Amino acid sequence: MRTRAKGKGAGPARTEELRGLLVEARSRLLRTVATTDDELASLAAQDAGGLIETSSRGATEDALSRLEGRERHALDEIRAALGRLETGDFGVCEVCRRPIPVPRLRAMPWARACVTCQSRGERG
Ligand SMILES: [Zn+2]
Repeated sequence: MRTRAKGKGAGPARTEELRGLLVEARSRLLRTVATTDDELASLAAQDAGGLIETSSRGATEDALSRLEGRERHALDEIRAALGRLETGDFGVCEVCRRPIPVPRLRAMPWARACVTCQSRGERG
């Protein structure tokens, strides 16, 4: 039996690595607002789109409201990147549609654009 190399993208192993980086970055962010492990767990569950019990929802929203704008934005970016992992759009520049170099993704796994397009965008 021959193993067929499928696709030309990041590949499953790398995808898992980058997913790990994203999840880790998200926990780091959530940990800055969560006061207890329970709170952290429900925050993570809610952020992952999971259903949480009504009783913990209030506390979760309360904790999320402590996030500052910048952190909330980062959390949104991480969530969007995790979504792109599911749809297979991850690691592709949104502007030029070329693959984003892996070293950039390792440093910034939620990056939406390659360095060239990003710097172009930040100017305007
Ligand atoms: Zn680009």
